[in-house]
Formats: sequence, structure tokens, C-alpha cells
Amino acid sequence: MTFRATVLTLFPEAFPGPLGLSLAGRALAEGTWSLEARDIRASATGRHRPVDDSPAGGGPGMVLRADVLAAAIDAAAPAGDGRPRLLMTPRGTPLTQARVEALAACDGVILVAGRFEGVDERVIEARNLEEVSIGDYVLSGGEIAAMAVLDAVVRLLPGVMGNVASATSESFSAGLLEYPQYTRPQVFEGRPIPEVLLSGDHGRIARWRQEAAERITRERRPDLIAGREREPGGR
Ligand code: SAH
Repeated sequence: MTFRATVLTLFPEAFPGPLGLSLAGRALAEGTWSLEARDIRASATGRHRPVDDSPAGGGPGMVLRADVLAAAIDAAAPAGDGRPRLLMTPRGTPLTQARVEALAACDGVILVAGRFEGVDERVIEARNLEEVSIGDYVLSGGEIAAMAVLDAVVRLLPGVMGNVASATSESFSAGLLEYPQYTRPQVFEGRPIPEVLLSGDHGRIARWRQEAAERITRERRPDLIAGREREPGGR
């Protein structure tokens, strides 16, 4: 079954962009997933089709109008469309691999990419939008955030990644960051590949990788280790 992605944006021409390349692009061409980028402006009315206006109460910038965005959502997702509706915003719940895995198990997803200062609060409530952030920094628009969500989801769809094992051993899947990777040449600028990896002893290699993953996670992301300890058995 095709995973149906719909993006609501003021810049539909930004899509598929990098999602048209490599694994995601091949899966798109093969119909593993579909992508519809819809122009929010098409739902605006009036001669100049205004999509934004100045913030109530004053302050800088412009705010995406609730009525225009609601109409765009309703046109993209008629009643009965059960796909999750995500609003890209730095205020949202930070995206995790666990949420990405859950999204990949859905029929599809609707992503709203904001611009300007953000969107009118009332449309978030009235259309039950799940606010999602891709990290603690501010982008100028939600398109790149929507692409990040889709890229992470699409690579998990059945058949997209050749080697399924690589999806289960990588960063975050066991609540740890990934161990270091090496390939040819055997010596690079005087730095050899760790001997254990050339030993052919799969037990030793697995132990080395596990220890390396734990060390790197402890050093870089102690918060992930704390999360593992709160939830025995992994994530
Ligand atoms: N004034 C807002 C930021 C607006 S940035 C605030 O302080 O919260 C403009 C648009 O970029 C947002 O509507 C959102 O869609 C997108 N965006 C910016 N940073 C993002 C992030 N970290 N994650 C997801 N979307 C983001």
C-alpha cells in the first residue's frame, strides 16, 4: 500500500527536492510512497489572496491566517482522512526515532509547513494539529523540517532500504548512538582500522561495537542513557 504524504506549504515548488533523490526518490518513483505538495495560497480568497496578516496585539512579522490554513487542510484532507496532521514548529515536541517509526506504520501523513512568525493558534486547536519540532533552532520556514520528517519516515517503509538490519542497528534504535564505522583502505593517513574489526570473531566484534556505542552515547548524549535507565529493555 502506498504511504500518502501531503505537504501544505507556500512553496510547493520546493518539493520533492532532495526527496526525489536516492532511496526516497526511487521509492517515490516506484509508488512505495506518494507526495502531494499543496499551495496554501490556493485556499486564500479575495483579489490579492492574502495568506498572512499582522499579529493581534502587535509585534514583528506576519502570522499565517487561521481561515486560510483551515481551508487548505480541509481541501487536502476531507472528513474521514485519518492521517496524522503535523505542524512543523520550533515550539513542538522534538521529533524522535520512535515517533518516526510510528508515523511509518500509518497510511500517510499531512505536514503543515509554516512561514513568517508562525500560524494563528486557533487553527492548531480547531484542526487538531500535532506540533512537531526538528530541533532547538529556528528555520525560516517549515519546508526543510517537513522534508526531514518525510526523509526519516520514508526510509523505514517496507522495501525502501535494501539492508533491513542497518535500520535496527543504527543510532537511536536501541536508545544508543551508533558505533564507529570503517571501510577500506586498511590504513588511512597512518590510522589503522581497529584490529578487532578485522579479527573475524563476530562475538568480539559485537561486544566491541556495543561498548563503543555505550561510550559514545555516554560522552555525547547522557540524556539518552538516562532515558534507557528509566525504561528498562530499551526505549
Ligand atoms: N516565531 C516562531 C518561529 C517561526 S519560524 C517561533 O518563535 O516559534 C517560521 C516557520 O519555520 C515556522 O512556522 C515553522 O513551520 C518552521 N520552523 C522553524 N524552525 C523549526 C523547527 N525547529 N522545527 C520545525 N519547524 C520549524
